[in-house]
Amino acid sequence: MTRNPAEYTVPLPWASSSHLEHTNDKDTNLSTDMHAIHTKLLIPGYGKPTENMTVVIKGPKIHSITSTSDFEDSVLSRIMRSISVPVLLPGLWDCHLHYFGNLYLSIDAFALASQALAGARSATDVARTLNAGFTSVREVGGYGADLAQAIAEGQLVGPNIYPSVAMISPTAGHGDAHSLSEQWVKDVSDHGLPLRVVDGVAECRKAVRQCIRKGAKVIKIAGTGGVLSSVDDPHQAEFAMEELVAMVEEGIVQCLKAGVKTIEHGTYLDEEVCEMMKEKDAILVATRTVVTNLVNHPELMNPESYKKLLETAKYHGQAYALAVKKGVKIALGTDLGISVPNNDLSHGKDGQELRYAVEAGMTPLQAIEAATARGPMTLGTKMAPKSGQIKEGFDADLIALHANPLNDIGILSKAENVTHVWKGGKNFKEPGMRVGPEL
Ligand SMILES: [Zn+2]
Repeated sequence: MTRNPAEYTVPLPWASSSHLEHTNDKDTNLSTDMHAIHTKLLIPGYGKPTENMTVVIKGPKIHSITSTSDFEDSVLSRIMRSISVPVLLPGLWDCHLHYFGNLYLSIDAFALASQALAGARSATDVARTLNAGFTSVREVGGYGADLAQAIAEGQLVGPNIYPSVAMISPTAGHGDAHSLSEQWVKDVSDHGLPLRVVDGVAECRKAVRQCIRKGAKVIKIAGTGGVLSSVDDPHQAEFAMEELVAMVEEGIVQCLKAGVKTIEHGTYLDEEVCEMMKEKDAILVATRTVVTNLVNHPELMNPESYKKLLETAKYHGQAYALAVKKGVKIALGTDLGISVPNNDLSHGKDGQELRYAVEAGMTPLQAIEAATARGPMTLGTKMAPKSGQIKEGFDADLIALHANPLNDIGILSKAENVTHVWKGGKNFKEPGMRVGPEL
């Protein structure tokens, strides 16, 4: 954000919050870090929307939620700064993206790129994500753990990042850089490249431990072949069952039997898999944004990858619609992962995923739930942070819109329609402005 208008009442992260001290009433025990947001329409993330509500934020958490009339009758209203917005909802979650800091979608290109350059590009990408109203992301392979540290230090402005650190793949699998020597891939992976190529139970276990050591909040396993790697196939299982059992996450049937809780993409889901997912209480992260938009961008990948993409795109839409119809639990994720600016696949275009969810059969309210309250569940029920809902005691991650997304879910597709963004109780965006540097 490039200016700090005096009329605005919420502390900016890099500005002093001393102006709030004037509002402190010494006769009360209220701290200076409280403020109120009034809204005509509150969409809580989980449950029904309510009208004319006030959310009080205390420090990084949501302190209370009351009707605006009750708030105005209370002592709080006389000693606290407040603002009004038309529509308030929880900060959005993108449960599948990558900060690889690369201009080309190829595992081999990731492996060859300078890590400093990748980090520099990603600095803008994380700001784009927050600017679009996405206050939390599950980053399933990429430099997310490093970026999260820079954000925590205040060097960068970006979302809460829950990283997997690396994508774990067997030799010749989706996370292997097939055109490079095995030793090269191993060496760069040992020195910070977010890929792990492993074979056998012992190496699988070790790779998971190495990811956790570097801050992983989720473990990403390439359970089948993928699109961006060259010789593998998204139909083929890659790890042996005992290898999968030794790890957790990603893939299809074998992964569910091994206790995996989320399935990414789900291109070849059928009725049987949907039933199994329901039985195992697994969550689908369909990543429709990447499948839909990548078809229009053959220049971003090599010809073999593009061919595979066209093949998977034939099935993906109907698999997603089937999962919605069957009542599979769904969280939204985009698989955005390149740093090319002004592209349908640039970071910050995450909000498209809500429109695709509605196209797949969800109501706008269900799509918002999938993009908010469901997000934390993709980290596991025991690990889920208190986030994604406007609820007392939850993270004060909130966004405001100028219009009702239940009437037109498409307004979330554009970052400029997100007028305000609060993360951890701090305001990062206000009307007419963008988060971070020039995007
Ligand atoms: Zn991905």
